[in-house]
Amino acid sequence: MPESEILSELPSKSAVRRRDFLRFASAAAAAVPIVTEAALARAAAKDDPVLTGMALHGQGKDLPPADAVLINANENPLGPCKTALQGIVDIAPMGGRYDLLGEEAQLKAVFAAQNGLKEDNVEIYAGSSEPLHYSVLAFTSPTKSLVTADVAYEAPWAAAMTSGAKVTKVPLVEGSYAHDVKALVAAAKANDAGVIYICNPNNPTGTITPKADIAWALENKPKGTILLVDEAYIHLSDAEPALDYVAQGKDLIVLRTFSKIYGMAGIRCGFAVGRPDLLAKLKPFGQNAMPVTGLTAAKHSLLDANLVPLRKKLIGDTRRDTIAWLKANGFKVLGDSQTNCFMIETGRPGKEVFAAMKEKKVYIGRSWAAWPTAVRVSVGTPEEMAKFKVAWKEVMSTPAKTASADLAEEPHTQFPRYS
Ligand code: PLP
Repeated sequence: MPESEILSELPSKSAVRRRDFLRFASAAAAAVPIVTEAALARAAAKDDPVLTGMALHGQGKDLPPADAVLINANENPLGPCKTALQGIVDIAPMGGRYDLLGEEAQLKAVFAAQNGLKEDNVEIYAGSSEPLHYSVLAFTSPTKSLVTADVAYEAPWAAAMTSGAKVTKVPLVEGSYAHDVKALVAAAKANDAGVIYICNPNNPTGTITPKADIAWALENKPKGTILLVDEAYIHLSDAEPALDYVAQGKDLIVLRTFSKIYGMAGIRCGFAVGRPDLLAKLKPFGQNAMPVTGLTAAKHSLLDANLVPLRKKLIGDTRRDTIAWLKANGFKVLGDSQTNCFMIETGRPGKEVFAAMKEKKVYIGRSWAAWPTAVRVSVGTPEEMAKFKVAWKEVMSTPAKTASADLAEEPHTQFPRYS
């Protein structure tokens, strides 16, 4: 039925209903492919820049070999913790009911209490990809731009394609590869930004944005702009969370996921954390019922007091060891990563390195258009990183096929570049 006909069916005095309909209709019109790390990693593996912009999650027929080392999607090979696994086993027989035990309410209550928040500051999604896209859709438009660091996680850039927003990319600070908060705020002022996206720590560099910089951005950003602070990797780092700014009622949405330190990428759970009026703006884009397995596993993960310090050390030790080995062998790592991934400068097309590593059944991460000769590597287990070192040495001691000068011809850009 055309929109005009549906509207004429609504009671004419019901201005609220008409407004609601229009709001929901425009959200539906903006139905967005959800771009995830898994989809991006898979598109990179197929060397398909078109695929990259689409929401294709399943591996389909392109499963990697069973003995492949998968350090291409910032996953956590440790998987869910023991209590989370037990929680999944215990609740699975009740899976015929939606949420018999009130797991959703329990999870909100645990997270809110642990972080000095109210329960209505927290919305639960199947991972943080959904609220990330919905935040960009809700707060950007053809007249409200997205401001982001470059390099940074590209999913918000993809969402901006749907909202029709201009994307202004601000390079990371040379040398430290930190977010340049002053330049981001200046870009927000110059481009009438709806959203400033800060990934802290940053994917792919693992570099952190100090809390004082987040505070400065909140104080100095244009009125009407929100900060979207993506804390997917926060527990792996020494970065200070921005959740207390939510408690103070500031203009930000913080994203959290259970896909990283908690090892639940395939189980799915994540949060949008913000003022209730900001979170309400995400609602028209959809919010499905959560699987009880994801809810209970997330709750048990939060209640495991040892999980974060133990895994932070385990993953940190493996990262430090791998980076020290790379540096000792003359390779340049871009920035001081505090998370489960880092960028290596290769001096040759990143795609070529990626393909050669894949031949050796070691799947590493992708390159970014701004840094076409660097590749991202995720931190796997010590055994996986030992295999990575062997393959890396072999690949990098083979002469490059393409001269770096030819790189401009490479179809690297995965999303339209607006600036
Ligand atoms: N934000 C960042 C920076 C990420 O790297 C990822 C995934 O890798 C996500 C958000 C979303 O992850 P998920 O949807 O699995 O929660």
